[in-house]
Amino acid sequence: MKILFCSSEVVPFAKTGGLADVAGTLPPALKIAGVEVKIVMPRYKCVDVKKFKLKKLDNETYSTTLGKNVEVLLLEKKSFFDRAGLYQQKGLDYPDNLERFAYYCRAALKLIKKINFKPDVIHCNDWQTGLIPIYLKTILKNDPFYKNIKTIFTIHNLGYQGLFPKEELAKTGLSKELFSVNGLEFYGKINLLKGGLLFADSISTVSSTYAHEIQSAEFGCGLEGILQKRKKDITGILNGINYDEWDPKKNKALVKSYGPDSIEGKYENKEALQKLEKLKVDRKIPLLGIITRLADQKGLDILAEVIEEVVKMPVQFILLGTGDPKYHKLFENLSSKYKNTSIHLKFDATLAYKIYAGSDIFLMPSYYEPCGLGQLISLNFGTIPLARKTGGLADTVEDFDPFTKKGNGFMFSDYQAGSLLEAIKRSLCVYNDDKTWQKLVIRAMKCDFSWKKSAKDYVNLYKSIKA
Ligand code: ADP
Repeated sequence: MKILFCSSEVVPFAKTGGLADVAGTLPPALKIAGVEVKIVMPRYKCVDVKKFKLKKLDNETYSTTLGKNVEVLLLEKKSFFDRAGLYQQKGLDYPDNLERFAYYCRAALKLIKKINFKPDVIHCNDWQTGLIPIYLKTILKNDPFYKNIKTIFTIHNLGYQGLFPKEELAKTGLSKELFSVNGLEFYGKINLLKGGLLFADSISTVSSTYAHEIQSAEFGCGLEGILQKRKKDITGILNGINYDEWDPKKNKALVKSYGPDSIEGKYENKEALQKLEKLKVDRKIPLLGIITRLADQKGLDILAEVIEEVVKMPVQFILLGTGDPKYHKLFENLSSKYKNTSIHLKFDATLAYKIYAGSDIFLMPSYYEPCGLGQLISLNFGTIPLARKTGGLADTVEDFDPFTKKGNGFMFSDYQAGSLLEAIKRSLCVYNDDKTWQKLVIRAMKCDFSWKKSAKDYVNLYKSIKA
């Protein structure tokens, strides 16, 4: 079986969020499962030709490999992609994003014909790829090369839909009839995600709970009607993580490697982190960490309401994140007021490893969370997730039960600052019970969220729609 995997970001080449992690790890897992898979993405400025050993196929395409020989095809178009950011600069979207990603979709389809790689299924991901299923069923429908190519559209986050003014429709090359209720039109604008959802043969999202949630008005972001209509075609497949990258036994950024059979090393990393962050070096003080995009989705508004009360307790708090300026300001103020906090308003992969390893509790109070990778990563580092019961968090974190001693984290249900605070206090009570906490840490580290099972689920999904 042949699969073309289309994603606008892929680790290690370019990343703004979890989509890149998935795109960099699922295709290699598919290859191991016996699928012939190629990835296609834009060649952004950050995808350095030398660093990533890119080979020039022609003026419009580079090629390289990922994992055990998965070919990555990179589309070269300097005027669109040779820029500092992937989608935006200084918090503002590039004004020509519709042209940029319409180009990406067209060029990806043109390329597979040029290199004569005819996939059984094109696996599209998020709004940037939304035009691919539409092009196949409209402009390309009479071209024999594209006949019988099926599409899957995976929603990684319904909150990002690719909305553009209707006047820009011509830039997609599509006819005016497609700007209708049964096409790309969404409250007077062009909605690329909606197009993908309507035209793809099958839809998937990244956890079973999120697959249900998006069919409700609360989480459907206005697309719940379409998703309810396509209910039978929607599958939830949980993301895995790359255990080569996120393994405290192998990670080079740590001062000491550790695993479930050697958790002492975790506390050496905690002390090193405290020292690095100029916090009091004391392994007994509970260290709360959070690594996130600073966006409303991530529950920062409820965290903001209680954070002062939290840091007034005998805890330490480290945040690594970038995004909404209002949260930058809020956390800057917090760090100037409280010495037991450390705030980094930037994207920093190496520091992220150190925080995952050195913290005791990892906060994910998200309002919604399609899958979430932070909780899966933190579990593997023995850092106990404290999360809201939503989406993939509900499918992967089980609330600790003090009586049965079962569970791998702490959960709260109501999206309320008070509920978050209550869960934090509950986790700190358990933290004070040394023996119970150690067992919890070991149990967390033994959880398995590798790609093996999920890759198998995707293969079955591909088989179910393959012509
Ligand atoms: P989302 O894709 O919604 O941003 P996920 O939890 O699915 O959230 O994935 C986020 C990924 O990005 C994780 O690998 C997380 O460690 C990483 N990440 C987020 N913010 C930062 C940051 N400021 N620095 C380093 N890594 C970050």
